[in-house]
Amino acid sequence: MLIDLHAHSSRSDGTDLPAELVARAADAGLDVLALTDHDTADGWDEARAAAEAYEIVLLPGLEISCRHLGAGAHLLAYLPDPRFPPLAEELVRVLDGRNGRLPAILARLHRVGVELDVADIRRVAGAATATGRPHVADALVARGVVSNRDEAFDRFLSPGRPAYVDRYAAELTEMVALVARAGGVSVLAHPWGRGSRRVLTPQVLAELAEAGLAGIEVDHNDHSAEQRAALRAIASETGLVATGSSDYHGTGKVGHPLACNTTSPDQLGRLLDRADASAQDARQAGAEPPRAPGVAGVNT
Ligand code: AMP
Ligand code: ZN
Ligand code: FE
Ligand code: FE
Repeated sequence: MLIDLHAHSSRSDGTDLPAELVARAADAGLDVLALTDHDTADGWDEARAAAEAYEIVLLPGLEISCRHLGAGAHLLAYLPDPRFPPLAEELVRVLDGRNGRLPAILARLHRVGVELDVADIRRVAGAATATGRPHVADALVARGVVSNRDEAFDRFLSPGRPAYVDRYAAELTEMVALVARAGGVSVLAHPWGRGSRRVLTPQVLAELAEAGLAGIEVDHNDHSAEQRAALRAIASETGLVATGSSDYHGTGKVGHPLACNTTSPDQLGRLLDRADASAQDARQAGAEPPRAPGVAGVNT
């Protein structure tokens, strides 16, 4: 059974529509795909309908931009009710932070002689709910300023580069609790990708497990073989679920094809059990988390 728990559609910064993403997942031989757009659940309905047609299991999720001890961290939230008011309000804050800083990024680009306007971003962002630096990068590619997203980040958009602008992100431990209250379960995405190893130490990961974090992404292409082995050991010592996933973005991110990393059925089973437990409590508190999908041999 092939399970990929992290993929983006064009509702955030992927390049496939949710239904196209699901079609590609079926093509890649996946049995289970999680749709985890940045800070939005807007693609869920379309992906769910497609998953029914292609007979694969769709696990609805989000990748929420958080901050912990001053550093950025991405939290994968599976099966929460995105309309549960406290969660919905925080997601609006994060989305507003990302969308609202576009003018500041454009002003900084102007200062270094690069002219882009909001219409340029709109054109490349299509139906995205979350528009961020990747869309600015795409607009720079469309203008012929750079040849791909990576070059745009390296020259202009990464921290320390001339057009970088910080934005609001949710506090990580608060978000872990909020996801649970909304009936979902959370997994820390690529904990040691892009230099966050300095902050997310084994000690900090153990504390997050205590605070309700259910799992960590171990098999991710931003992790070396040595990092994966160390993270797997931490997961087994702390009781964290160890997942693997592609972080697929369509043509928006090279080297992350669907199913390049996968999660084992027993680890998915543990995640779904945790989600079931928080969904029960959340329903009593008035949240309406989606029903966990039945995965043959895992929770059915
Ligand atoms: P934003 O949410 O606007 O801050 O943009 C962050 C997103 O940009 C991340 O979630 C990645 O998908 C993407 N990203 C960050 N750094 C890079 C990079 N160096 N190259 C390509 N994409 C990147
Ligand atoms: Zn992304
Ligand atoms: Fe991420
Ligand atoms: Fe991602």
